[in-house]
Amino acid sequence: MQILEVKGVNKSFGGLKALNEVNLSVEQGDVHAIIGPNGAGKSTLLNCFVGRLTPDTGSVSFMGKNLIGIKPHEINQAGVSRVFQTPEIFGDLSILDNVIIPALATQDGSFRFNAWSGVLRRTEVQDKAESILEDLGLADKRHTIASSLSRGDKRRLELAMCLVQDPKLVLLDEPTAGMSRADTNNTIDLLKSIGERGITKIVIEHDMHVVFSLAHKVSVLAQGTVIVEGKPEDIKGDPRVQEAYLGG
Ligand code: ADP
Ligand code: MG
Repeated sequence: MQILEVKGVNKSFGGLKALNEVNLSVEQGDVHAIIGPNGAGKSTLLNCFVGRLTPDTGSVSFMGKNLIGIKPHEINQAGVSRVFQTPEIFGDLSILDNVIIPALATQDGSFRFNAWSGVLRRTEVQDKAESILEDLGLADKRHTIASSLSRGDKRRLELAMCLVQDPKLVLLDEPTAGMSRADTNNTIDLLKSIGERGITKIVIEHDMHVVFSLAHKVSVLAQGTVIVEGKPEDIKGDPRVQEAYLGG
């Protein structure tokens, strides 16, 4: 079954055609990698899936439901969650608070505030946040202020913020960007373990080691168009892929 279906998507910025007739079909449960040189349109495409950008033409549907013109928070509530290219966390807050906030955003109504003491009562939401932090190895640091975390831990936190929403589809834009090899390998393991939850993932990635470790399917984007698509082993030696990277 297709969880995400993209048909004939075009997007221009002024005179620049960032996406040109993009078609993409993502199978439920898959890790689907989108690769391609800088400026190929990868982030623009993801932005069209989360309502940050509206395609000029074309359609995007998630579980059979149209996403075009739908507000970002509604897309999020429908089960699409995103990890950004630059971690977007609340630097001044604790790790735990960072995870509670997105959980509350998807669980309207379960938020309870004790007006007398001004203290947030222990709720299901907090239990869930703590359990996700446990899974991601961040439980010990739950009262640490987020801005003081290492780059790898910030990524981990971002993933926790995403998973606490029980997403059906997770979009990851360069999850290992700027990481050491050791952190990259940890991230691969993390992503594999969340794969066991049956969550579909779309991963934009530069690091071929990551792509070949994780992806079931790869779409290669160059100058706004999908030029090659297939299993990692099929696209590995494809001359069109090498040309796209070399030719820019
Ligand atoms: P990638 O993520 O593959 O590196 P992007 O999707 O970020 O590529 O960018 C695709 C092209 O669109 C680039 O030429 C980029 O400069 C341009 N672009 C992206 N976002 C905007 C924007 N908001 N305004 C103008 N141009 C943009
Ligand atoms: Mg990008």
